[in-house]
Amino acid sequence: MRNYDKASISLKKIVCISVILIFILGIGVMAGNVKVNSVKIVLSSGYEMNVLTTKTSVKEILEENHIILLDDEKATPSTNEEISDNKTIIISNEAEIVSTLAEEEKSSDVTAQDVLQNYSKIVEKIVTEQVKIPYQTVKKDVSTGSGTKQDRVVQNGVDGIKEITYKVKYQNGNEIEKKEISSRVIKKPVDKIVEVRTKQVTSRSADIRTASKTNNPAETASTALAKKVKGITPKVKTFNTSAYCSCISCCGKSNGITSSGTKASEWYTLAAGKSYPIGTVIYIPYFKDKPNGGWFVVQDRGGAISSNKIDIYMNTHSKALQFGRHSLTCYVYEF
Ligand SMILES: [Zn+2]
Repeated sequence: MRNYDKASISLKKIVCISVILIFILGIGVMAGNVKVNSVKIVLSSGYEMNVLTTKTSVKEILEENHIILLDDEKATPSTNEEISDNKTIIISNEAEIVSTLAEEEKSSDVTAQDVLQNYSKIVEKIVTEQVKIPYQTVKKDVSTGSGTKQDRVVQNGVDGIKEITYKVKYQNGNEIEKKEISSRVIKKPVDKIVEVRTKQVTSRSADIRTASKTNNPAETASTALAKKVKGITPKVKTFNTSAYCSCISCCGKSNGITSSGTKASEWYTLAAGKSYPIGTVIYIPYFKDKPNGGWFVVQDRGGAISSNKIDIYMNTHSKALQFGRHSLTCYVYEF
């Protein structure tokens, strides 16, 4: 009985040992087949995490750690790769990668350019410049007689602008050649016009003033003379005005022929001093209701006529006498 017991105890021992051995062996086999890896994951925010995993696919490792890639995010190595030697997964923003790549490309471009510049140092550039076209001064002699001459600017000069296009060559930053290839006038210059006139001697210059444009009777009057002087700015002057006829008493002759050679006519002919050329048109508002509307032409000269005295031609001596003397405002149109 003791022997049987002994034998049964040793059998139990064998079974126990065998079970333990098989168990230990099993773990050993399992440990050999399933490798646990420590992987470092760097998130796009820069946060780093270390995880233990039995997976080897990047996609599975990320899923296991509940990491979802956003549309613009990317894993390195990519999700379809297996983790091999590199035990780090980097999640980055694609935009950043692109910009980094672009910068790398740029910097490599610059180096290429540097190389090129070192090889061929001449650079060509198209340059446009604006230059001034100085105005010309034109002198016109409109003087009459032998009086003192005087310059008068009738039009101010204005410089023009020209645009010139050049082809410029540079070597090491220095201009070595400049060639004009085209030019065009952007603004034409305006000539300065100077008229040489006979200086007018007037005893009472304060009486002379230039009518303003709004105060030019020629702009509104409709007589033939007014139309003739339209556009000319008159001088406004007060004349000591009297009248005359074609009698011997008034003219020393009686044929009625004026200094201009034509026959004097009432409400047209006017006699003035030498400073007013034959043909000068004079408007006298005092006579605005007469047939000529107040418009006269200097056609005659008189011995006693000074520069501030004029004479109106009238048909009869009595009419001239009746008129007497008046200080009248006159608009003088010279051309
Ligand atoms: Zn008379």
